[in-house]
Amino acid sequence: MEKALTEAVQRGEFVLAYQPQLSLVTGELVGTEALLRWNHPRDGLCLPGLFIPIAESTGLISEIGDWVIGEVAATLGSWHREGFDRRVAFNVSPRQLDRADFFDRLRQAFAENHVPLSLVELEFTETAAMRASDTVVAEIASLREDGVRIAIDDFGTGYSNFARLQKLPLDRVKLDPSLIVDIEESDKARVMVQAVMQLIQGVECEIVAEAVETSAQADILRAMGCHTIQGYVFAEPMFETEYLAWTRDAAPSRSVA
Ligand code: C2E
Ligand code: MG
Ligand code: MG
Ligand code: MG
Repeated sequence: MEKALTEAVQRGEFVLAYQPQLSLVTGELVGTEALLRWNHPRDGLCLPGLFIPIAESTGLISEIGDWVIGEVAATLGSWHREGFDRRVAFNVSPRQLDRADFFDRLRQAFAENHVPLSLVELEFTETAAMRASDTVVAEIASLREDGVRIAIDDFGTGYSNFARLQKLPLDRVKLDPSLIVDIEESDKARVMVQAVMQLIQGVECEIVAEAVETSAQADILRAMGCHTIQGYVFAEPMFETEYLAWTRDAAPSRSVA
């Protein structure tokens, strides 16, 4: 697996899928997350759960992460040239942040492709965000000042230090699916989600609920004041051609990036 992963970058076996995010307030498309897929020569399409942990533990995630940045930058660049601007988020692994030149190279990738930073969103996990050094936090804050949107991913599964959370340069918090999964049946789950959302809104962040699968869940989340959802209930991750067709034909009409 490790050897195959090493070769996968050179062989061009990775591909991105794009999943739209919908505003529960206006019904508009308000964002998109790019998700990595591995087109394995023998086993076919692999989901990240199968290979990201190995990529993380071997350090290969750094090279794969570089590919993701380059691919998002090139794709946004080509959409931008066609007059189609859509903000895209991608996942950044804590290992990528260990590299001193990460932020320079990220800026360079988007600059080379003439992509405004206002079309870029970065997702860090809660744990990565809590562990980030002051230098990294300063770099993130500077990107945010230049228009990059910053999201915390999988919120509710790590160990948040609320004093630190309050100081992070953040736009959005993505609730982990494990918080959402029982909200239809369980009063406790609803009370918990409501409390977490109040906390997040208190620090002026937008809430994104992930892995929303039913319209009943979406209705409960809307009633609780959740801003945005991402989930199979309205769109699955799609490869570029299908995603572009979706945004043209199926997406709510007054879409904003
Ligand atoms: P994530 O960043 O939290 O991404 C959301 C995951 O939820 C995606 O899984 C997405 O396909 C899935 N999802 C979306 N809607 C639904 C739904 O309604 N129901 C269910 N059950 N799942 C839903 P995916 O694509 O398999 O990715 C899994 C994780 O792998 C991601 O979680 C992220 O942590 C990691 N990952 C994906 N792409 C990258 C990447 O480019 N770099 C790094 N470092 N990690 C990545
Ligand atoms: Mg392309
Ligand atoms: Mg994510
Ligand atoms: Mg997540």
